[in-house]
Amino acid sequence: MIAAHISGYLNMTAEILPAMPLPPQALDGGRLQYNAALLIDALEKADRIDAFKIIALFDVDLFTPLFTHVFGEARQNGRVAVISLYRLATPTDGMCPPSGHVLERVAKIALHELGHLLNLLHCADPHCLMHFSDTPDRLDRTPLNFCRYCRRSLHRSLAAWS
Ligand SMILES: [Zn+2]
Ligand SMILES: [Zn+2]
Repeated sequence: MIAAHISGYLNMTAEILPAMPLPPQALDGGRLQYNAALLIDALEKADRIDAFKIIALFDVDLFTPLFTHVFGEARQNGRVAVISLYRLATPTDGMCPPSGHVLERVAKIALHELGHLLNLLHCADPHCLMHFSDTPDRLDRTPLNFCRYCRRSLHRSLAAWS
């Protein structure tokens, strides 16, 4: 689903890599969550991965020093982004969201984090994928689309890389 969105929206080739074991050093024993920055470090050092940009999916809960949990995390212009499915499927109104809904959330986060990997910053436009979302509700209100400014920046960034 994510690979299809990346190919469709950004006209990039997206390849699905084999699964890897969770880096144990990224687990915070006190919080029982994984440190997103340490996961990114571990993946950046995994030299057997040969790819322009990498989006790694996790089913464990992720945190950063600034946020109690994150849906996704990427360094500006970095090579690796991490995404957690952990909170995307949790019920918000007492009912579990259908899987298609969860996948749409995942696709939005993937495109948002890929935007950061392509050096895009957060966008003030609430109707843009680069707008910051910290709750599933807010994510649901964001359409699956970049505003025209972010779209232009994306294409400029991609053109510079190719
Ligand atoms: Zn962001
Ligand atoms: Zn935007």
